[in-house]
Amino acid sequence: MTDVIEGLLEGTLDQCVHCGHSTAFGSGRYVNRIPVDDGWGCAACSGFECDRCAKQIYLDADVTADQCDGGDEFTDGAVHVHEECLSYIEGRHFRGEVFTRSDVDHTTGGCLQGSVELVPARLVEIFGAPDDGDDYKTSGEYTFKNNQGETFHLYDWKSTVLWEDGLQEVDALWSDRTLFEFNVGGQSTANAFIAWITKETTS
Ligand SMILES: [Zn+2]
Ligand SMILES: [Zn+2]
Repeated sequence: MTDVIEGLLEGTLDQCVHCGHSTAFGSGRYVNRIPVDDGWGCAACSGFECDRCAKQIYLDADVTADQCDGGDEFTDGAVHVHEECLSYIEGRHFRGEVFTRSDVDHTTGGCLQGSVELVPARLVEIFGAPDDGDDYKTSGEYTFKNNQGETFHLYDWKSTVLWEDGLQEVDALWSDRTLFEFNVGGQSTANAFIAWITKETTS
């Protein structure tokens, strides 16, 4: 037998310099292996070490602070961590379940994704006055983004005197303390956004 066949059979061909498992073609570790100084490293051994549990992270599966709530490192100084080692709130940011208000951004387009009943006065108290709408069908709107780059718009629709005489004044709508049905626009499913904004304004 040649050395190559013998190595394949014994699992000693192109061994990972860290764990000793073969990274040869057919080993299941071939595609994601990476070259290291004196041989090969398998993906399971070649990622960063988790700064919280000190265990090895699979190659490129580490989560960093900029994927969560921003910044170069987490508040405890950790830089690379397992997804399962994130705190509850970090995990929510990572999964795009937390949103922040941003400037009006119509460059992303989008379409109606749903509606949500919220108290207008609470929105203003928590997030400040809305941005101007089109002064016709929409009297005001908010733009929110998550860290996945998803953008959602929250706005009233054909509900004030801007649209039709006899409807309520703009100020009356935005100072109202009863539930009002807002439209939600965006490019992607708004379920997470609707859940988030509802919780933010009712707690
Ligand atoms: Zn290995
Ligand atoms: Zn960990």
